[in-house]
Amino acid sequence: MSYVILDLEWNGAYSKSAHRFVNEIIEFGAVKTDEDLAVTDTFSALISPRIGKRLSGRVKELTKLTNEALSDGADFGSVVQSFGEFAGDSVIMTWGTSDIHALIDNCLYYYKDRKIPFLHRYCDMQEYCERAMNRFDEGCQMGLGLCAERLGVEFSEDDQHRAGADALLSLKCLKALRGALPLDRFVQDADSEAFYDRMTFKNHYITDLGSPDIDRSALKFNCDVCGKRARRIKSWRLHNRNFTADFICKNCGRAFTGRVSFKKRYDGVRVNKRIVEKKEEEANTSNTKPNEE
Ligand SMILES: [Zn+2]
Repeated sequence: MSYVILDLEWNGAYSKSAHRFVNEIIEFGAVKTDEDLAVTDTFSALISPRIGKRLSGRVKELTKLTNEALSDGADFGSVVQSFGEFAGDSVIMTWGTSDIHALIDNCLYYYKDRKIPFLHRYCDMQEYCERAMNRFDEGCQMGLGLCAERLGVEFSEDDQHRAGADALLSLKCLKALRGALPLDRFVQDADSEAFYDRMTFKNHYITDLGSPDIDRSALKFNCDVCGKRARRIKSWRLHNRNFTADFICKNCGRAFTGRVSFKKRYDGVRVNKRIVEKKEEEANTSNTKPNEE
């Protein structure tokens, strides 16, 4: 088994013909390793942009790539082809899924098909590192630089944000954590439609309390003082993404506001539930602006 650590750079460009923004990929950088993560080969290619002729200032600053350097690049299709030959049947690894999203975006644009031709097995190194470091938090992902810092992996900020350098740095992080968790547990089959459905699923908050995706038991609250079931005394209101309602505990008299949100993800609904102090000003109906933090 071999691994290919892939890192891409892209430039946000507006396509007039497709009437949408495309994260146009401008660089492929990759390292190939054997089963023990020893480097066996590298890959690097620049792509001459077709959609956005000029790089944005932010991309230029970040990648130090220039419009001149890219004008000698190849086209997306031929880089995908040669990268496919380079990768063979290796497991493709990226840091987080944004590179996969960019690939899907470019495949949709060029091939009118979301399938990434060279992707058969996939591993998200960011999730692996976060889990192996016990820092997995869906709402707050760890950047590559921060991960390297925490692991004591040396790197120069100047070299980063270029595809090849970022791929090498992710590999160093992976090696620093090797053995903490089995890597193969994070390798997923990427040939199925389900992989693409999961990747392209748009997480969103449920804003209709009647939705069948809502588990009604999440709307019940226990008193945070005595632990007894509290009674809801007002109807549910929706503030931004949260449902809130006032509760009172018949046992000890504690009054509070129950707050709950339901985030719909590809593989289920994540419930976030908490008790907040009752806000007196909410009783004042003249003040109608949303007062969530
Ligand atoms: Zn109570």
